[in-house]
Amino acid sequence: MPFNTVFSQPIKYIKGVGEARARALAKLGIFNVSDALTFFPREYEDRSNLKKISEAQDGEECLVKATLVSDPVESKPRRNLSIVKAMASDGSAFLNLTWFNQQYIKNNLSKGSEYLFFGKVKRNGMFLKMHNPVLEKSDGHGRMTGRIMPVYSLTKGITQNNMRNIIENALNLARGKFEEVLPKSLRQEFKLCEVNFSYEHIHFPQSFTHKEEARKRLVFEELLLLQLALIHVKGSSLRQKGIQFKHVDMSPLLDKLSFTLTEAQKKVFREIEADMESPARMNRLVQGDVGSGKTIIAVLALYKAVKNGYQGAFMVPTEILAEQHYRNIEPLFNSLGICVKLLTGSMKKREKEEVKRLILEGKADVVIGTHAVIEDDMVFNQLGLVITDEQHRFGVRQRARLSAKGESPDLLVMTATPIPRTLSLVLYGDLDVSIIDMLPPNRKPVKTYAVDESMRERIYDFIRKNVADGRQAYIVCPLVEDSEEIEAQSAEGLAERIRDNELKGLRVGLIHGKMKSQEKDQVMKDFVEGNLDVLVSTTVIEVGVNVPNANIMVVENAERFGLSQLHQLRGRVGRGEHQSYCILFNQSKSKISRQRMEIMVKSNDGFVISEKDLELRGPGDIFGVRQHGLPEFKIANLYRDMEILKDVQRAVEKIIDNNLLEESEYGPLKKKLDSMYDTQIKELSLN
Ligand code: ADP
Ligand code: MG
Repeated sequence: MPFNTVFSQPIKYIKGVGEARARALAKLGIFNVSDALTFFPREYEDRSNLKKISEAQDGEECLVKATLVSDPVESKPRRNLSIVKAMASDGSAFLNLTWFNQQYIKNNLSKGSEYLFFGKVKRNGMFLKMHNPVLEKSDGHGRMTGRIMPVYSLTKGITQNNMRNIIENALNLARGKFEEVLPKSLRQEFKLCEVNFSYEHIHFPQSFTHKEEARKRLVFEELLLLQLALIHVKGSSLRQKGIQFKHVDMSPLLDKLSFTLTEAQKKVFREIEADMESPARMNRLVQGDVGSGKTIIAVLALYKAVKNGYQGAFMVPTEILAEQHYRNIEPLFNSLGICVKLLTGSMKKREKEEVKRLILEGKADVVIGTHAVIEDDMVFNQLGLVITDEQHRFGVRQRARLSAKGESPDLLVMTATPIPRTLSLVLYGDLDVSIIDMLPPNRKPVKTYAVDESMRERIYDFIRKNVADGRQAYIVCPLVEDSEEIEAQSAEGLAERIRDNELKGLRVGLIHGKMKSQEKDQVMKDFVEGNLDVLVSTTVIEVGVNVPNANIMVVENAERFGLSQLHQLRGRVGRGEHQSYCILFNQSKSKISRQRMEIMVKSNDGFVISEKDLELRGPGDIFGVRQHGLPEFKIANLYRDMEILKDVQRAVEKIIDNNLLEESEYGPLKKKLDSMYDTQIKELSLN
């Protein structure tokens, strides 16, 4: 929307607003006319369904046109209760009308006049009645009845009718002034209506068909802008030329593994091989549930790159994870004559310099690290492959920055976060997706229990028993330290308590995000090496951590975590041959918490869990769009709008392939895009 005077006008100057309501509207993000006009209805109420009284069905919402046949009568059976009653007829039947606590209605009604009444009809044999009908003189223009009314989300201090008035007044000012950003040719091709029509009919549709047309266009525009902006941020066109790797015999590496690949892993690696061997640049997302074995896929791809004479970079979100990968991968690659280096932010400057020198000179083949890998002074000799693990912690920009370090390195992105198909299309319009849809064999599913405080002692006994058998346990808390405001278990508090009491005699470690990296590494190393029996932690161990000997995961205040997060945490156990257990302390009594825990108990499948989670979270933030750092959608609904999204994808391809944004017809669209980059899309991250 162009920011000329009308659209940028502060909302308080709109008829029907004023200071107090302006403050209320601000809570809804409405500060000016433009905000009001893009505050789209939540739903609609059809007040256009005109019926003869005699034909109205029981329970039907309808509009009747009828003459008042009695004077309105008011009664006050109780304090705080006033009842106005009247009777109307349209010749076909009589209708009893009742209003509760709306005394003023009495003054709006007079016997012998004709009105429109909208409401739900109740039928009781011969008698028909309506409670609290909306009413309007029948000779008026039908502002409140006889049409489809928008229903808006509200906030304290604004009624539904206030909101309708405000938006209608804003619309009256803006009518005919919306600037069209979609070129005519594009609108024709995708059957999209014009912008002014859209705003008119999204708020006050003449019919539901009009509303659908309006909506389609606005959704299309919203998704189109987002897709084009994302492509701009990624700094890549849809398809790029890349390195054409040669085929490599993988058996020297495979022979060294203690297991054989699952069919799913083989299939995914075949897809990666095909990508790497093609002249186009690989842009692939590998999605696999926790424990499905994504790391080995990365190792295979790195091996292939190195055997082709290129370097590989393996980037992960935490130092703990970088260390872990390094510990596992280094000995394997070393035995194959491949030089692997670790690079993390907390390493000593001198050590880092040394690693950087080896990378620059091409003496190191693979670097595993955190964000340090994308620092500006990191220069590769011959970078051919970039892999990001649990990439949802990385922003698109960071990903782009890393791939800019090679000429055009192939890109592999690995994640356990199940991403609904529609969202992945929006986020990764240019990524191909491979799915590892099976777990390695002989995994015993983790047994999950949702418990309350009454079980605490038994849980600690259970931990003791397993530790006596040589196992290890995690206890995850929502907070680092005790808090005055939030009543939840803190890692520090709990660790201290159980060391001295419930788990006295066991070796209890503590790890959380506020500790220095070196301290964290030491604790993690102790746990990996079996020098600790119990690790009390915050969610720093959420992603990727692999200690197959650990078989118990206790989550305190489980109700405070998202289901996908709980699933990630549970994924820390069940990684070896031992039967594993996940114990969720649910400290909430709410029904929704119980339902959520129930889902965790019943399902071990990350996809199922994320879908259920969405169902329970409701339509508000339906795909966790905000979590992904995207601007919140004003109108698009990724659940419903798959068809429109497909059209948008086609349009985007056409626009990019033909460089249409440089054409004058696309000038307004380009201008709008430019203004978006600076504001909404700036710090986009993929989680
Ligand atoms: P994630 O997909 O969660 O990153 P990892 O790559 O960490 O999973 O693998 C989890 C565990 O499964 C590791 O201990 C790994 O060695 C093991 N693993 C991976 N693939 C197989 C396989 N095909 N057979 C048996 N174990 C496997
Ligand atoms: Mg992993």
